[in-house]
Parts: sequence; structure tokens; C-alpha cells
Amino acid sequence: ATAHRPLVIEFHEGDRTMADLLGGKGAGLAEMTRLGLPVPPGFIVTTEACRAYLAAGGDPEGLWDQVDAALADLEERSGLVLGDPARPLLVSVRSGAKFSMPGMMETVLDIGLNDAVVAALAERGESHFAWDSYRRLAQMYGRTVLGVEGSRFDDLLTRARAHAGVGTDAELDDAHLQQLATDFRALIVAETGQELPQDAGTQLREAVRAVFRSWNGERARLYRAHEGIPDDLGTAVNVVQMVFGNRGDRSGSGVCFTRDPVTGAPGAFGDYLPDAQGEDVVSGVRSPMDLSELHRRDPEIHAELSRHLRSLETHYRDLCDVEFTVERGRLWILQTRLGKRSPAAAFRIAVELADEGVIDLDEALTRVNGHQLTTLLHPSFQAAAAAPLAGGLAASPGAAVGQLVFDAATAMEWAGLGRSVVLARPETSPDDFGGMLAAKAVITSRGGLTSHAAVVARGLGKTCVTGIEKMVVDPAARTATFHGSRVLTEGTVVSVDGSTGELFEGSREIQASVVATAIQETSAGGPVGRPEDPTARGVLRLLEQADKRRTMGVRANAETPEEARTARRYGAEGIGLCRTEHMLMGPRRQLVERVVTDDDAAGALAEIEALALDEFTTLLTVMEGLPVVVRLLDPPLHEFLPDLVDLSVSAAVAAAKGEPEDPAAEQRLAAVRRLHEANPMLGLRGVRLLLVHPEVAQVQVRALAEAVSRLLEEGRNVRPELMLPLVAEVAELEAARGRVETVIAEVGARHGRTLDIPIGVMIELPRAALTADALAAHADFFSFGTNDLTQTTWGISRDDAEASFLAAYREQGIISADPFQTLDEVGVGALVRLAVEKGRATRSGLELGVCGEHAGDPTSIGFFAKAGIDYLSCSPPRVPVARLEAGRQAV
Ligand code: ADP
Ligand code: MG
Ligand code: MG
Repeated sequence: ATAHRPLVIEFHEGDRTMADLLGGKGAGLAEMTRLGLPVPPGFIVTTEACRAYLAAGGDPEGLWDQVDAALADLEERSGLVLGDPARPLLVSVRSGAKFSMPGMMETVLDIGLNDAVVAALAERGESHFAWDSYRRLAQMYGRTVLGVEGSRFDDLLTRARAHAGVGTDAELDDAHLQQLATDFRALIVAETGQELPQDAGTQLREAVRAVFRSWNGERARLYRAHEGIPDDLGTAVNVVQMVFGNRGDRSGSGVCFTRDPVTGAPGAFGDYLPDAQGEDVVSGVRSPMDLSELHRRDPEIHAELSRHLRSLETHYRDLCDVEFTVERGRLWILQTRLGKRSPAAAFRIAVELADEGVIDLDEALTRVNGHQLTTLLHPSFQAAAAAPLAGGLAASPGAAVGQLVFDAATAMEWAGLGRSVVLARPETSPDDFGGMLAAKAVITSRGGLTSHAAVVARGLGKTCVTGIEKMVVDPAARTATFHGSRVLTEGTVVSVDGSTGELFEGSREIQASVVATAIQETSAGGPVGRPEDPTARGVLRLLEQADKRRTMGVRANAETPEEARTARRYGAEGIGLCRTEHMLMGPRRQLVERVVTDDDAAGALAEIEALALDEFTTLLTVMEGLPVVVRLLDPPLHEFLPDLVDLSVSAAVAAAKGEPEDPAAEQRLAAVRRLHEANPMLGLRGVRLLLVHPEVAQVQVRALAEAVSRLLEEGRNVRPELMLPLVAEVAELEAARGRVETVIAEVGARHGRTLDIPIGVMIELPRAALTADALAAHADFFSFGTNDLTQTTWGISRDDAEASFLAAYREQGIISADPFQTLDEVGVGALVRLAVEKGRATRSGLELGVCGEHAGDPTSIGFFAKAGIDYLSCSPPRVPVARLEAGRQAV
């Protein structure tokens, strides 16, 4: 069937639903044409054609026939003819994939110009416009189609400006522009041995092919890998009649949003550049003015634009961004799409659209996600002590501290060494993408709020400040000079405040986020609902909606009372994982060591029991009314002992020095030797400890039962549960459960009551998942430990895999995500699904939780919802993220 899909579609034939075939830009142009907005006529070479071209390494059959037919139609609509000096039609050839990849692929403007057309235009008194457009064609065609390094053209431009003594390209006169066009063409010949084609048809075909190929360009691939966009979609190519913003005073070009994409505040927002073609605005070569400038110059055009913005937002029911051009007092819309927005803006816009009745709250919930919320929970700077070095435009919020670097390669290299870096550039281009990914923040001396740097940084959730006019970045000298005098060299630590647009020398203190504070105050029963900050208000409303909708519970992984309090304030509905080994860290390690080396083991156990009684009592009290799942000691005992090599060495040294034998040291060494394992991760740990060295776990159970008994006696509503780690076999579970139940019964008997403490099992070994039906007969609940389950399913160690080969695997494209960050649905997920099915087959009401890191990962939560998990348990700060994502899954 695909063979019959068309290779070319005209704007008036398509609509917004066809983004698969037309790409996002094409579908938007078609939809706007349909809505009657002033879109220049044109047609779309489909993604189907691109896929066919890339697969075959050449033109698909019939492509140029279809293009010629659409071109003939375009010529008829416009009354112009491609390549005809008397009535020249010029077109742009623009990439546009299904998912927006801003600036990642190629666009060539002013196709159709050649010597004859330029001469004819000049003769008609349009010399400036003709030469300006011709040099642009040479520049874009040379770079995009013929592969000449873009900076070579920029260098010639810089020289021409210097030579002419002007600050911007727009001030170059006809003679300069003519010279530039000549120089650009000479550069093309020198670099490639080819001429800029004089035949307009050749220009068009070559440009279309170049856009096809740009799909596989390096930066496009990098962007797709980061955004999770499939590699096989291909791009569409839009061929659009040119309209000219570089045609004098009542002309210009701009980019705008229907609302503020940084803060989410209502009202049109954007940049405008008089006498310019579109790329000038986004490339940051000239500092644009804001939309009020258009209002001042041309109130009618401004009013018309505002009308179109409103109808687009109503039509798309969301923030839109729009590229427009004014040609001699006439407005043209050249592109629209759903606007990228900062996380802060996403929450505000979603809720305000709901308040305005454009969407309902369920839909608002689908407009935000946990990744965005994660960045909003990030801290910001404490009040400033020192004055900023310089200020610019607050392009993407956040607070970041790092060392200055001046090029993408250094940014990636230093970040690879674990350093925090701040990437400073005069302006960014798509070539800087890798460096922007690696940096904590990006700062530029030029460019507006819609510049490349700003748009990309917001999408990545990176802190970004653009247009720092008092900063001069010299990448060659590796310096940034402020106010003409203060010189900072590479490696200098700076602090970037993306929320105020300020840059500071040195490292600044960072403080909790407004959103995090608002969530905590609300959940703690503080002033509910209407914090000052509009974003915080949006987050609270959507969390409330998520809580209404979600079917999965959200608990926290926590041990200390402080963590438990934080978890409750963040809205946790219990503790899903209390790792008791965390209560035996630090100096308390020695207690375990004493048990193992039999150095007054009974005394040490009594101390452990007393400590545990104390800790469980506090934890259960803090979490009163909510479940608390206590997991028995999990790690191998040797983790509580000194290192075998260290001990052996000191013993050998002592012996060599002829020191008297130390029986305690010998006992330790013997114990460490006894417990030493080559693969401790797969060794004596978890439930195996309880069965082989039961002492510690037994006192833990006794302490828990005792704490519960006493609290119940005080009339407190406590809800403890016990969880056995690393179970692989039902007989193991039966034996362990028997022991645990005996201890609980003894304590209960002493208090004259029967204690109801559900006993569950962690599913964290493949064998547990495979035999879940048998385990369920002896377990009151399951909790998936997805960290260990990932390690044991893949047979890889979380601690080593990243450095040793996962990073390389990602680079080679063998795996796309880190399986420890995002649950591997195909493999580990299959085991989870199997265990859910088998467990519920045995016991239909079996409660199922997840307590690995994945429970706080937005992508993985979608899987858990589908798999039928009852609750998630994640680290306390991730609790709001889990609540939001669980809610999103339910609407
Ligand atoms: P991107 O996908 O990187 O945004 P576009 O295809 O939108 O690239 O092209 C970049 C700029 O070129 C646009 O912002 C627009 O201003 C300008 N442009 C593209 N097509 C035309 C046209 N037909 N007439 C005038 N300007 C155009
Ligand atoms: Mg565009
Ligand atoms: Mg585990």
C-alpha cells in the first residue's frame, strides 16, 4: 500500500492530521492554508519520498514528474515562473520532519535566482534586495547542498562588515552585497570545484535531495537519539513561494509565541527584525527587537498578527509558535507548531488554558510530565551577595555553577571527566548541540529569546542566558571579556541564573525551589492551593488532579525520620521500602562486625535490637496511619567488615616487624576471609543471610514486633509490613517466613496480642519471577526490586556497567537507554508482567509494589501502570513526580 502513497502534496490538499506524511511543518502549513491564514502557496515532497530516496540512494520513480506538476500549479497560482527573469518565482526548500527538530536540518531560501534574474531585478530598481537575496542563496546553497563549511561564509561576511565599517549585514550597500555574492560563489568553486547552478530547476532538485540527506546528518542523528525520535521516519520537504522580509522598510521577519514560553504568562511574545529574512532572527546574528517594535512601526500588521495568533491558539488549543514575514506592509505566516516551553511555562499554561475553558483539567494533566516537574523541583540560587558580572536575557530558568568553556568539544571532553561546565559562545549554532547537552548551562553574548541557544536549552531543560551584550566571547583565545575589561579564562567558575538572566563570577549558594516548597507546605496541611507563584499554583492544581485520577499508590523509600517526614510532606502514602542496613551504617558497622567476629556477639545483638526498636518506633510514629514496609538486612555481611586486602597487608606488615600477635586482629581477619566472596552481589545476602546467619535479622524482626506492640498499646494506628529480599525459591520463602512468624508470635504472646504484620517477598531475581505462582501462595504481597532484577536479568552490575561498556553500547547504538534509569520493558518488563500474572493467578488480590529506582522514572511509570502495579515507591524528592505520572497514566 505504501507504494501508492503520494510523493508530493500541495498545501491546500493536506491538513494537520497528516504529520506522518507531510512532516510537522508541512501539516501546519496545510492546516493554516485550510484556515484561511495568509500562507504563501507551495507544496510538500512527502516523507514517503524521503524514505524511498534514502533507502534506494537515489530519486524515487516519478518524483520529479510530481514535483513538476505541483510547481506548474504553484506558478499558475502565483503568476510567476521559476527561472524567468521577467516574472521570477523564487521558492524556499525547507526540511520538516514529523517531530519538530528545530534547526537540526536544512533550509535553502531564494531558490530560483541566477545572474539573469538578479540583473533583471536590479534593472527594475531592486538592486539591494536582489543582491542581498543572491548572496543568501549562494551562502545557503553552498553550505547545505554543496557542503562548504558555514563559517567560511561567516568569515567573509565579517570581513565585508569591517571593510564597509558597519555593524550589521542589513547596513551593507548594494555594491558590498554584489561583491559578497561574487566572493561567495568564488568560495564555492574553490572549495568544491562546482559552480552555483544557474539553472533554477537544478537548484530546486539539488536542494530537495540535500534536505533528504540532512535527515542523516550528524547533528540530526544526535538530536533524535536524545529526544527518542525514531531514525526511520525521514523528513518531508516544503517548497514554498518566497516572500521577502528583506525588501526595505515596511518589511521584516519575526518569530513569536501565543504566550510567553519562558514563564507561561499570557499574551503574544516574540522577536521582530525589520528588513531581514527569517534566519536572521533565529541565528542571533542581529539582536532582534521585541514585538512592541512591530506595534510601533506598523500597528495594523501587529493587530492582524495578534488576531491570527489568537485563532491559532484556539484552533490548536495550546501554545503555538509562529514564524512570520512582512513584505512591504503585507503579513505572511510561514510556520506554526506547538510551542516548546520551559517546564515552568508548561504547568502555568496548562492550568491557565483550563481556567480559560479551552481544555479541561484532565487534558491539562496530559500537557505536562514528570521530567518537567523534576526540573522544577531543582533548587535555585540564594539571594545574591555580590553584583553580577553581566546580565542578559533569561532564556531558560534554573541555577547552575560550572567552569567556563568556549567550544562544544571542550564542553563534552570536560563533562566526560565529571566536571560541571558552562558553555559560553558568541551565539550557538546547531553544531554546538553536543556541547549544550554536556553543559550545565549555556550563555551567549548575542541572540534573543527565540535564538537557537534559547530554544534548544529550554527543550533540554538547561539553564540558559542569551544576549549578554557586555560579554565578548573569543573562542580562539579561550576568554570571555566583560565590560571590555574583566577577562575570564577557560576553567573559571561562574554561576548562571537562568531565571533572572544574570551571570556571576565564582560559585553561588543554591536554595530549594519555590515549587518544592509549595508542594511540601500544601501536603503538610499548610496554606492550601494558591501560592503566589503561578507555576507553583499550576503544579499544585495538576498534582491534585493527578491524585484524583491515579489508581497507583505512591510511597517512598526512606529510613530516617527526616526522610520520612519529607516523604509525607511530598504526599507519600507510606513507606514502600525501609532499608534496614541503612540503620547500621557509620560507626554502627562495628556492631555487625562484633556479631560476625564473635566479639561479645550477644552484647552487640542486644545493642542492635535496642537501636532498631528506637528507630522503628520513630519511623512508625512519623508514618502513623500509613503502611511502612521494612525490608530485612539485604547486603552481604562482609560489607560491614574491613577490606580483606587491607587487613591482610597490615597483618603481614605487623608480622614482618615482629610485633606481638593480636588475637582480635586475627579473629577479624579470619572472619573476613570466611565471608569473602568473589561475587558478593550474587552471594550470601538477602533472605540467604536470614537462613544461614539469622542473628541480625532475627533481632530486627523482634525489634519491629516490639515497637509495633508498644505503639498499639499506646493506641497508635501503625501499619507495619515485613519484606524478604532476594528470594529465589519457594522453600526458601517458606523457611524464612516460618522463622519470622515464630519471632513475631513470641513477641505478640509476651504482649498478650496477635500481631498482624503482612510478610511479602521482593521479586528481584529472574527465578522469583518465573516461580511467582508458587511464591504467591506464601507471600502477602510482592514488591519488585527493579534494580537487582535489572542486574540479574541482564547479568550486569550497576556499579561497573556504565563505565565499562554501557556508555560504549549507547554510542554504538546497541542500546538506547540506560536500563538502570528507564526500565527495560522488553526483557525485565517481560519478567515483571509474568510475575504479575502468575502471582495474581494464585492470589487474585495480591498487592504489588515497585521499589527500585525505576519507580520514580517518568517513562518507566507508564509501563508499571500498564502492568497492573498497585503502588510505586521512590526516593522522597521523586514522590511528586511519581504522583503526577501515575495520574497522567490514568487519564
Ligand atoms: P527551521 O525548520 O529551522 O525553522 P525553516 O524551514 O522554518 O527552518 O526556515 C527558516 C526560516 O526561513 C523561516 O523562519 C522563515 O523565516 C524563512 N523562510 C522559509 N521559507 C520562506 C519563504 N517561503 N519566504 C520567506 N522566508 C522563508
Ligand atoms: Mg522554522
Ligand atoms: Mg535488591
